[in-house]
Amino acid sequence: MCQFCVEHGDGKKWYLEAENYACDLESDLRRRGFIIDFARDFDGHVARGIRYLEALKHVPAPLRRLAHEAATRRLRRSHFGQPVPKEDAARILDITTSIVRVPCVCRRFHGKGDHAYCLLITTRPIADLSTDPFVVDLAARILPDYGAGPDLSDFELLTKGQTMTMLDDCEAEGLLHSIWTFVTPFIGAMCNCNLSSGCVAMRINQSYGCRVMFKGENVATIDAARCTGCGSCVARCPFEALAGEDGRANVRSGECYGCGICRAVCGEDAIRLVDRRLVPETAHSW
Ligand code: SF4
Ligand code: SF4
Ligand code: SF4
Repeated sequence: MCQFCVEHGDGKKWYLEAENYACDLESDLRRRGFIIDFARDFDGHVARGIRYLEALKHVPAPLRRLAHEAATRRLRRSHFGQPVPKEDAARILDITTSIVRVPCVCRRFHGKGDHAYCLLITTRPIADLSTDPFVVDLAARILPDYGAGPDLSDFELLTKGQTMTMLDDCEAEGLLHSIWTFVTPFIGAMCNCNLSSGCVAMRINQSYGCRVMFKGENVATIDAARCTGCGSCVARCPFEALAGEDGRANVRSGECYGCGICRAVCGEDAIRLVDRRLVPETAHSW
């Protein structure tokens, strides 16, 4: 179990606890303010954050390390992500009542278009986006420039079946699924992306010493008897956790985030996800 399971899951997978998606959390004023500020000025937050992290490159290493640790602690309390394999994503969608597909803010930030890869998830029932008072009020605060009411034409209410089809399509594209907090422990979104699609969090993880995305609950293992060494999984892993050696794929367990998208591309059914705690090298690495 990761630290979030201990703190917010009573020792079980914390993202399978219904209360972490609950409406009372959603209507909490501080959290609501955080969500509005986050969504209204996403580009500004990212640009300022990256400027700060770039500036830190010029300070002495011990101070830089302290600053990175402080930033990671702040993010852990406010907004962070964790990969979830598709089977856990399905269980999360069983818990949540409403799923709203919205454009991806990271892709937009990087000029990669307004593709709708983000899912807002909540236990709050939503029958119609355009008349739901909570949605309309929140959207009006996030999109204040629309005098006649917020434009929700890019938002789409999905069923669980439609969402699972979308998740399959994402895996075929090499996109991993991750859950995101908005003032921890409230989980408000499930994202679908990878480093090359423009994920700001993965870029920060990879390029700087602080973390916006933490490792998942699992780690990949390869069945050497099945692996043909085709290399498809190696090319697919966004965290460079797989390497081809001696005609087979090998997992560098310490780098693995347990997302499972390597498994989706293996035609030999040679990849399994196992509980991270059962692998000595990863048992305490999040
Ligand atoms: S975390 Fe992923 S899906 Fe979510 S906004 Fe960023 S790139 Fe888009
Ligand atoms: S995709 Fe499967 S068969 Fe190909 S290298 Fe990876 S584990 Fe082996
Ligand atoms: S090895 Fe597989 S499960 Fe691990 S991070 Fe890479 S793609 Fe994800």
